Amino acid sequence: MSHEVTCAVCGTAFEEEGAVELGALRVARKGRIFWFCSPPCEKEFQRDPEAYGG
Ligand SMILES: [Zn+2]
Repeated sequence: MSHEVTCAVCGTAFEEEGAVELGALRVARKGRIFWFCSPPCEKEFQRDPEAYGG
């Protein structure tokens, strides 16, 4: 069963299954899971989490 997740920074939607293997990142913050399509998006989130709902 597949599950679609959305990059918290750029909004790109992708399948959760296999996403990490393809370079996506998952970050836990304040009890929530945030997904990012790529390292640059994760970096941008870490720079200013509040701007992306973190
Ligand atoms: Zn992204």
